Amino acid sequence: MRDPDTVIDIHTHPMLDDRPILGVPHPPEAYLQLYREVTLLHAVALVMAPRNDLSRTRRLNDQVVELGQSSRGRFVPFGSVHPLDGDAALEEIDRVAGAGVKGLKLHPNTQDFDVADPAVERVVRRAAERNLPVLFDAYSPFDPAQPGKFVRLAMTVPEARIVLAHALGPRFPELVVFGILARYPWWKRQVWVDVSAMAEMYAWSPYAEPFAWSLRQVGIDRLLWGSDWPLGDPLRSLEALEALGFDRRERRAIAYSNAAALLGL
Ligand SMILES: [Zn+2]
Repeated sequence: MRDPDTVIDIHTHPMLDDRPILGVPHPPEAYLQLYREVTLLHAVALVMAPRNDLSRTRRLNDQVVELGQSSRGRFVPFGSVHPLDGDAALEEIDRVAGAGVKGLKLHPNTQDFDVADPAVERVVRRAAERNLPVLFDAYSPFDPAQPGKFVRLAMTVPEARIVLAHALGPRFPELVVFGILARYPWWKRQVWVDVSAMAEMYAWSPYAEPFAWSLRQVGIDRLLWGSDWPLGDPLRSLEALEALGFDRRERRAIAYSNAAALLGL
């Protein structure tokens, strides 16, 4: 019996078209088969919109909504738009919100945009108006100022719920800024941190303790567990939470209840 044995995986990439991430197909069923000991409740399925290709963007979004329906809610659909698609991106947010997505995924590296671009603020604002949290891939080897840009974005659109995936990667010590911000009454604590990929990377490393300490500065109630499957191994990344020193109650919050509250599940 695993502990916790009911989880919400905030970060998965089931293959919905013919483009595998690592060269090997990773259909949604392959993910579900990994869970023999875990009573999996839900996994957030992410897609990523290309730029200037609205028909493919719509197709991806339709496919992820369809996955949510065909899996009877085991997969929770997050849609995507390209911020630099302008008004078309805003219209697509309205459309997918109506179609039942539970959030948006944006990826500054892969989609090749700057977090400080005003177009990003517009997309995040519209998502907030549609009550959709926005999950960002939050590590860029090419933009050292990116962590501060996320803070600025959260301050500019305080009503938005923002998830920073991968805990800022190797820039995780900068997570301490969220502990500092939390001292101010005007800071709404609308930023969550997803530990996917990095928990597994650091749990058995010399960085385990500093990583766990940095996560605690964000607050246990703002941490989310994710596997980044197929890039990460869901069972090993669950074990990583324990190896990082989170106790039972904390693991339940990180791997289940925080996400349930965020997603309204
Ligand atoms: Zn990912």
